[in-house]
Amino acid sequence: MVRITLVRGDITTEHADAVVNAANSSLLGGGGVDGAIHRRGGPEILEACRALRASHYGKGLPTGKAVATTAGRLPARWVIHPVGPVWSRDEDRSALLASCYRESLRVADELGARTVAFPAISTGIYGWPMDDGARIALTTVRETPSSVEEARFVLFDERAYQAFAEQIGPSE
Ligand code: ADP
Repeated sequence: MVRITLVRGDITTEHADAVVNAANSSLLGGGGVDGAIHRRGGPEILEACRALRASHYGKGLPTGKAVATTAGRLPARWVIHPVGPVWSRDEDRSALLASCYRESLRVADELGARTVAFPAISTGIYGWPMDDGARIALTTVRETPSSVEEARFVLFDERAYQAFAEQIGPSE
């Protein structure tokens, strides 16, 4: 079973085998975590993303799917890029958000990554309510069989950290 840990911080400085992005389907960068990863990781990541677009994902990576690239100058070895769903009031997109975490673990297994740092996918620009985003993140990682030893949630602010800490409960 994957051990789940919570820290407050900036995911781009994490020493983990793989760092998970909150990507968009273009894979060509954006704001939030995505922007920070590309800024700090340098142009190698964007080059790798462009190559993936050209070779496999001409129309973009579908929501809920994930791919891996080099981590460039980040302390991690790889960046895993899942495409989170935009929050919708009218449609339940929880399965797509859960898929981001499951797919990221699957890709981490393929890479042989043992420690994986996750952001709270979709809870920024994509508008997902933090409590629900935390619940989906934690239950999905808990329920997904994987060789990953540690899933470290790196929460950017106190509000996110508290939401995850409340969902995780006293047992972990
Ligand atoms: P999305 O478009 O999937 O909502 P965002 O990057 O806008 O992605 O936000 C996802 C979450 O990541 C938000 O909770 C945001 O506060 C947080 N975040 C932003 N920058 C960082 C960072 N450098 N490290 C960790 N988390 C971050």
